[in-house]
Amino acid sequence: MAFQGVEHIGIAVKDLNSSIALFESLLGSLCYKIEIVDSEQVNTGFFQTGSAKIELLESTDPDSVIAKHIQKKGEGIHHIAFAVDDIEKEMKRLSEAGFVLLSEKPKMGADNKLVCFLHPKSTNQVLIELCMDKK
Ligand code: ZN
Repeated sequence: MAFQGVEHIGIAVKDLNSSIALFESLLGSLCYKIEIVDSEQVNTGFFQTGSAKIELLESTDPDSVIAKHIQKKGEGIHHIAFAVDDIEKEMKRLSEAGFVLLSEKPKMGADNKLVCFLHPKSTNQVLIELCMDKK
């Protein structure tokens, strides 16, 4: 078992609409999906870039994780998401290896994925997301 490659890179932004316009210009492709994820209090915009996607994240609530991230660190890269083929097995493997999971069970994420985050304190301060297509 191992990670199956970078699925997407999450980028925290203050204003989704202006950032979508910026990334459409940067990447030369159109945002293909805008989706609100209530459980994470974010509005997301997705771009396909070949092997990995870009996920723009705008807070929908002043107390959300993304709002706090922007307050502390400003806009920028927020997390790296890796595809896995069995998220529960990977969560068990990582937890046994000493990594700190931010949820005990996979949660419903954007883009029809089951997701789980690892606490950055156990990963050199990089927020890592595991994601698996929901079947
Ligand atoms: Zn993500």
